[in-house]
Amino acid sequence: MRNVHYEADDKAWQGDAYTARGWAGIAWRVLGWETEPDEDTEWSGQEQRTGFVVGHMVGDDALHRFEPADLTVLDREEYCSVCGQVGCAHDGLARRFKLDNAENL
Ligand SMILES: [Zn+2]
Repeated sequence: MRNVHYEADDKAWQGDAYTARGWAGIAWRVLGWETEPDEDTEWSGQEQRTGFVVGHMVGDDALHRFEPADLTVLDREEYCSVCGQVGCAHDGLARRFKLDNAENL
């Protein structure tokens, strides 16, 4: 995705990270609503929301577009902030419980 524009919305997207349908095991950060120019943008400076959401994988900055309904919020303890994998605990965060595949915590 090139030249992506988006509008941050901390009320709608309060989660630290999300899972996305079709991307099992990956944690995503949501940046906001995708926007695009319309016929009035040149004079109004305003863009219109497309209805999609823009985000990127935790640990990567390539942007992706999602349907809002495909996103589910993740608890901070459920994913790794280094590699972005759900279930990885190698980022050093003190977790309340041990994840199945976390070794030598
Ligand atoms: Zn990890």
